Amino acid sequence: MRIKYFDFLSHHKKIKKLINSTINRVFEDGVLMGGMFVEEFENSFSKMIGVKHCIAVGNGTDALFISLKMMGIGIGDEVITVANGWISASESISLTGAKPIFVDIDTLYDSICVASLERAINNKTKAIILTHFHGQMCDMTAIKNIAKSKNVPIIEDCAQAHLASFEGRYAGTWGLTGCFSFYPTKNLGAYGDAGCIVTNDDDLAKKLRMFARHGIFQKYEHDIEGVNSRMDSLQAAILVSKLPFLEKWTSQRRRNANLYHQYLKNIPEIQLPCERKNSIHVYHLFVIKCKSRDDLKDYLEQAGIETLIHYPIALPFLKAYEKYQFNESTYPSTFANQSKILSLPIRPELNRKEILYVCSKIKDFYRMKI
Ligand SMILES: *Cc1c(COP(=O)(O)O)cnc(C)c1O
Repeated sequence: MRIKYFDFLSHHKKIKKLINSTINRVFEDGVLMGGMFVEEFENSFSKMIGVKHCIAVGNGTDALFISLKMMGIGIGDEVITVANGWISASESISLTGAKPIFVDIDTLYDSICVASLERAINNKTKAIILTHFHGQMCDMTAIKNIAKSKNVPIIEDCAQAHLASFEGRYAGTWGLTGCFSFYPTKNLGAYGDAGCIVTNDDDLAKKLRMFARHGIFQKYEHDIEGVNSRMDSLQAAILVSKLPFLEKWTSQRRRNANLYHQYLKNIPEIQLPCERKNSIHVYHLFVIKCKSRDDLKDYLEQAGIETLIHYPIALPFLKAYEKYQFNESTYPSTFANQSKILSLPIRPELNRKEILYVCSKIKDFYRMKI
């Protein structure tokens, strides 16, 4: 058996007819940028997650950067983010001129440690980028209370958390803005780059839209300088046609996760992901923490099972942040995780038989070790 981690073709095969007719509709409409498909995407997506405004942009990284810029963040400011995330968050912070402040994770949920987050806030802190890593939301009640009492806005990085929820409310609706990526491998993926920002703030929504379109207020009236960040009509139309399937794909991911939970639960060498109470984990990634990780990874590879590591080097320890001389002892949980984490294939197209095959190979590996 061969189990690919990502498999675009097996995904595409199931929706090929729909995608082809969608592409044809865009070409027949003849508007490749902006137009009705982008508008339709913005309306459908904001309706789906229950938020007032959706601004389509070029990708998820832009969504974060544009949010920070329009919140007035820049030189001399600090923005807090999590140490074990993806570089888009810290990269966008640096790009505004502000300094990224990394906070360690809690070992149970692998999301930002709330106590450390609270300690990291000072009078230079101008925002918090909360990454709902792996598809599970952070502890929003605790964090919202802290952020509110310190008067610091929250930007949610929802790139891995489409339809994830906490206490019945979707990711993206808790912060001042929610930033989504529709990179092809995400839970809702375009056929190229795409992203969006959601917000309930009317004024901010106007600014975000303006900044993403070269600061244009009306045609040829540039009130400010901005950037060029747009979702093209083709991506927007594809996303609109995929949107009705997102719930089904999410439950298929959760079904696969349940199988993993069920069949891997009694292996002492493995720690399974922990689901937060009152929240829905959408399993963009199924990350286990395991003993002899590299050997297990090789063993699975031999058995035709592709796994990945998200990510082998945590943000503070990357060469890009060498200048700050971040210390491993400042981020003990993040650092300890680096050598243990392994992402198992979890995509919706995988069936029960395939997931059980992965489980059996993992069991074989540890039996052999003993
Ligand atoms: C994918 C991802 C992003 C970036 O999205 P792009 O569309 O690739 O720019 C940001 N944050 C997280 C957590 C991601 O997984």
